[in-house]
Amino acid sequence: MDKQNIPKKILHWYDNNKRSLPWRRKNTKKQHEYFTLVSEFMLQQTQVKTVIPFFNRFIKKFPNLKSLASADKNKVLKYWEGLGYYSRAKNLKKTANIIITEYRGSLPKNLEKLKTLPGIGEYTSRSILSIAHNQPYIPMDGNVERILKRVFLLKNKSQISKENLIEKKTFFSNSKRSSDYAQAIMEIGALICRPSLPICTSCPLTSHCKAYKKKDFEVVTNKKLNKTKYFEAKVYKHKNKYLLIKNKKFNFLKNLVIFPMNEINKEKFKLSIDKKINIRISNMNMKIIINENKNKIKIKNSFLLNKSNLSKFVLPSFTKKIFNSLSHLK
Ligand code: SF4
Repeated sequence: MDKQNIPKKILHWYDNNKRSLPWRRKNTKKQHEYFTLVSEFMLQQTQVKTVIPFFNRFIKKFPNLKSLASADKNKVLKYWEGLGYYSRAKNLKKTANIIITEYRGSLPKNLEKLKTLPGIGEYTSRSILSIAHNQPYIPMDGNVERILKRVFLLKNKSQISKENLIEKKTFFSNSKRSSDYAQAIMEIGALICRPSLPICTSCPLTSHCKAYKKKDFEVVTNKKLNKTKYFEAKVYKHKNKYLLIKNKKFNFLKNLVIFPMNEINKEKFKLSIDKKINIRISNMNMKIIINENKNKIKIKNSFLLNKSNLSKFVLPSFTKKIFNSLSHLK
């Protein structure tokens, strides 16, 4: 396999096909670092098209690292509202503070130092090093993984193991344009080597790709199945006010405003004749009974919130979905 031309082909494709994304705008070095940091946090477990409007709104409010570091935490959460996984917003804010106070406003250029920052793990630190600092890293995201599995036709358990995929990553070899190169490979995965119906006719890797030669595009994954859990949400309404609490009980949606809830067993869920809804968060499928109470429920630290004041609170989309399911109570 002639690997020499691979970076050239990939970069040529990227120069002609890359998406115009707000965090790719031409900018000063400092802004480029900041945009990379914010976008990488937002893109963790969230799709590009979902992130774009949130990124634009966030950057308009917090245009640089300094403004984010000095902002009130609740304001930051407000501007993250609707994007989910709120721990990312809290960690981003903490990271911004540390970069300002300990790194004089510049993102560290070293993998180990980056990994000590809140919310930055192996993947995000590699993304930052390649995208913001032009270092020769290729972060292994789902797109890169899929390309490798197809190029080498990796099918069995040992072939798709993390170790083997990291080894196979040398296929991409290096380029001096490390920042563009890493983004180009991920972009090919997102736009061309798509999970279903890859557009091989537009791909710069066809001559190297075993999946293309064999016309076998099935991608084997070892994804853990999402867990299903059952809950009962207690809804109490009095004169257009709803009883809510700040969640201290569950590890998900920590410290955010939710309806009072209990985890219940599958049997109780099945037998209930109350309204039922499904909500998916992180890697959990939540099946929720909506239990409407006529009498006030006594719950410590709960408060009544007027529906017309909802916009003033940071409400996770989870709580909004329950509100929407109550439309008949309006
Ligand atoms: S040739 Fe097709 S299957 Fe192979 S990497 Fe390109 S898009 Fe994916």
